[in-house]
Amino acid sequence: MRQVYLDYSATTPVKKEVLDAMLPYFTEVYGNPSSLYSISDASKEAIATARGQVAELIGATDKEIFFTSGGTEADNWALMGVTDALKNKGNHIITTKIEHHAILHTCEFLEKHGFEVTYLDVNAEGMVEPAALEAAIRDNTVLVSIMMINNEVGTLQPIRELAAIAKAHGVLFHTDAVQAAGNVEIDVKEMGIDLLSMSAHKIYGPKGIGALYVRRGVRISNYMHGGAQETRKRAGTENLPGIVGFGKAAEMAKANLQAHIDHCSSLRNYLVEQIMANLEDVHVNGSMEYRHPGNANMTFEYIEGEAMLLYLDMHGISVSTGSACSSKSLTPSHVLTALGIPVERIHGTLRMTVGDMTTKEDIDYTVEVLVKVVNKLREISSVSKEKGW
Ligand SMILES: *Cc1c(COP(=O)(O)O)cnc(C)c1O
Repeated sequence: MRQVYLDYSATTPVKKEVLDAMLPYFTEVYGNPSSLYSISDASKEAIATARGQVAELIGATDKEIFFTSGGTEADNWALMGVTDALKNKGNHIITTKIEHHAILHTCEFLEKHGFEVTYLDVNAEGMVEPAALEAAIRDNTVLVSIMMINNEVGTLQPIRELAAIAKAHGVLFHTDAVQAAGNVEIDVKEMGIDLLSMSAHKIYGPKGIGALYVRRGVRISNYMHGGAQETRKRAGTENLPGIVGFGKAAEMAKANLQAHIDHCSSLRNYLVEQIMANLEDVHVNGSMEYRHPGNANMTFEYIEGEAMLLYLDMHGISVSTGSACSSKSLTPSHVLTALGIPVERIHGTLRMTVGDMTTKEDIDYTVEVLVKVVNKLREISSVSKEKGW
């Protein structure tokens, strides 16, 4: 059976070049970078090279990149570290209702510890209104955290404008760019970003490695305590092979950016067009203009997303409903809810994300199977346009 992976926003396979770059760092170059003897020099050099490669992907300087165990740790550290360092200045944070749980659950934790959090609404396309941010800033606001690209509906936020508003009020601006890195051009200096989270496994690198960009001069407390690694900012022996793989993945993402965007957006557009041409009562969620190049988030009325997911899986096609984390529960996605999508439509929603390895044949096969599955499910469904809900 054909296998079609359409969940690149959940994770990506490691590219061959990335794996090849990593392999020597398991067995041949294994010296602890903190050790003083000369065999550790190669480890130190490899980390320095990777730091430069990651910095270059987002227009940062090497010294502003701190490796973490992934996007989740980078998000936790940004919020916990900045609020701790600035606790004498204020206790108010602004974020949005559509953030990843790595941000939302950290905000809930901070709320239990005396911080106040404003969760901004988004419009029907999933966009934060700059005026809403402006209105939410208070004298005691210390941090604004707004994701660059949403992981479910793929909406790209007006980051420059939002960061400029934070800056005008002397408030730090963090962005979770885990979905954005390698999918849109990022220049932290030109965009006015103070802190930015990234993860390797979303850009064809290994799992368990990420980074937090911290602009020079930004005060942030440590999150991991221990040794003096990462210029004393993030303790723990470096994940050497992971860091090397992340560096290689970042280098490739930068070199291939335009080709990647063209490849993904043309296949994604073809997928959406073919589905719309062959099925009725289907909607695309989010913005078509300001969007992740590989994201198709679509609602199929009168059926359950979980039923579609299982049928597609039986045909070798991997997609997700809402987000990977909520696919095990039936609580409607907080993102689709924030877009104002009615609950019965949320239940009929699929997220399909294409990537570098996706082919036109994959899309043709998916559309063929999906059209059959949707028609079959609608036939046996107890609700329909004719039957009513
Ligand atoms: C995947 C993801 C994360 C978490 O990153 P991990 O490296 O898996 O911990 C955070 N934010 C967004 C938007 C993501 O898509």
